[in-house]
Amino acid sequence: MTMEIILARTSGFCMGVKRAMQIAINTAENSDQPVYTCGPLIHNPQAVAYLQEHGVDSVSDWQTVAAGTIIIRAHGMPNGSIDKIRGQGLGVVDATCPHVVTSQRQIKKYSEQGYFVYIIGDPRHPEILSLQSFAQENHRLIADYAEAEKEQPPAKIMIIAQTTYNADEFNKIAQLLKSRAQNAVISDSICQATSERQKEIKRLAADADAVVIVGGKASANTCRLAEIARALCPRTFHVETEAELNRDDFAGVNRLVVSAGASTPDFITSKVIDFLKSL
Ligand code: SF4
Repeated sequence: MTMEIILARTSGFCMGVKRAMQIAINTAENSDQPVYTCGPLIHNPQAVAYLQEHGVDSVSDWQTVAAGTIIIRAHGMPNGSIDKIRGQGLGVVDATCPHVVTSQRQIKKYSEQGYFVYIIGDPRHPEILSLQSFAQENHRLIADYAEAEKEQPPAKIMIIAQTTYNADEFNKIAQLLKSRAQNAVISDSICQATSERQKEIKRLAADADAVVIVGGKASANTCRLAEIARALCPRTFHVETEAELNRDDFAGVNRLVVSAGASTPDFITSKVIDFLKSL
């Protein structure tokens, strides 16, 4: 019996990452100066290597760059960074995801109107550092429900989440803060790309004999995808490339599902599929 290979529709780059990769590569192709991103553009070693081959390097601090162009990553940079980078004589190309730009604008608008802004998200994430910088003094970062429970909000508040925050957790936090304030505006900032990918793997893994998740071992969203799949289909393999796959692991498999994290380039997933087809 031939093994059926099903590739998840939501597999691979989300719109924001696809766009940032394209912008970075186009910039490098059209520039005779070095091109850098501040930190890796995405959490995938093969994609980072691919970018390097195409002339895009990564630096941890743009202030160490003497000449060239800085690409702003999909999750944005602190307010005013573009002017500061230009002020140092460097070029800037902004690849901030449009969803993140919307959040930045919302925060700025409500903060200027005197709303106390609650930003819900992971304090270590660069997107949060960026979002916070668009609020005036009147804001607070909340990491989880336990922190929200300690809050006594002022009368007029605005509540907004990191674009990749868990939607159920955010709704709980937002309702709690709203119940304690007189006037609360809740901003719907959570991007559907992550939740749609997770929903699809749940549906597909439930009927699969085996699942292969392709993507960086350091990529949080890829690891989460593998965890969800493994809970429904124990024969789940999380690999960065096809070299990690063993033929013997697929003996007796009729229905095989493949998906990839938001930071996995299609060319890597295609190589994995070619290997699986050869079985
Ligand atoms: S996950 Fe959503 S918000 Fe984040 S970069 Fe991708 S499209 Fe943009």
